[in-house]
Amino acid sequence: MFLPGMVSPPRTDDAALDTGARCTLCGADADAQVPLSLRTSGDLLDLGAYRAVLCTHCRVARTVPAPRAVARTIAPDVGEDALRPTQRALLQRFIRQRVARVRPLLGGGRRPRVADIGGGACAFANALAATGCEVVVFEPNPANARFADASAGVRFVAAPFDERATAAAGVADGMLDGITMWHSLEHVPDAMATLALARRLLRPGGVLYVCVPNLQSLQAGVGGTRWCYADIPHHVTHFTIAGLDAALHRTGFVTAAPRRWNAEYEIFGWYQTLLNVLTGSHNFFYNRAKKGRAANAGPHPSWTRAVTACGPLLLPFALLASWSAAAVAKPACAELHGIAP
Ligand SMILES: [Zn+2]
Repeated sequence: MFLPGMVSPPRTDDAALDTGARCTLCGADADAQVPLSLRTSGDLLDLGAYRAVLCTHCRVARTVPAPRAVARTIAPDVGEDALRPTQRALLQRFIRQRVARVRPLLGGGRRPRVADIGGGACAFANALAATGCEVVVFEPNPANARFADASAGVRFVAAPFDERATAAAGVADGMLDGITMWHSLEHVPDAMATLALARRLLRPGGVLYVCVPNLQSLQAGVGGTRWCYADIPHHVTHFTIAGLDAALHRTGFVTAAPRRWNAEYEIFGWYQTLLNVLTGSHNFFYNRAKKGRAANAGPHPSWTRAVTACGPLLLPFALLASWSAAAVAKPACAELHGIAP
């Protein structure tokens, strides 16, 4: 089921790692758990030693040991004004693409109420609110609050999406028309609890839209430990399309067919993964452009900077790889929505 390189025998230094006997998502026992080659991402080594273990029963992998909050904390994004004009134009195009996927599912009539979970710098929430939605963003990093466009109807809650925060924000059961999770479900400590809470807060017919990295993508298989979206230990859970679909079913959703193409994550993911493979550094381009982190050029800083500067030459290869992934139906993202019955 996985490309060569993803499944690996334990290394001797794995003895120190608690691999977790049972799957925390479905409860399958130790016999169903297979260690993967994915380990702590090269740019996050200071957060400790982690690896990924795949549950062959529910087809979802998880980071072990379970990352504590400090290991899951993500640096805030730089503002859009810090991006280059081409980067900003691309970002805005991709955000429009996200809105175009979600907005038609929310229906017309009265102003839809939507919660965006892990909304980061609020680019999606702001754009969705501009289409006539009331949007509440649950985002643990308070530094992102300054990006929320309150005048457009975006409310920023500086907290993780959980029972306490939703209750404090006045979000009651059955009250929401939509919940969106753009690459955030993989970050939460308990994905099943998050999905169950989302199910409760949605009205009948309400929509949960989820997009996460696809562990079974061509990108993950080719990139292996250099895959840009493994992001361990920021990522707690590593979904496959089948695994995400099953998780939504188990929490009471009726699911729609998965989307097979997402230009934003496909092309960028290949671009960054190819850079990772060529430079031996991990996510240098992303960290510098999106997080404003100048450090972390890896073991060969001048080589990393030189290759990254020539990065646009890789674009044709990233496009070719993206098309290949679509052709073999192994997209970068597990992206689908569930409807609350
Ligand atoms: Zn499982």
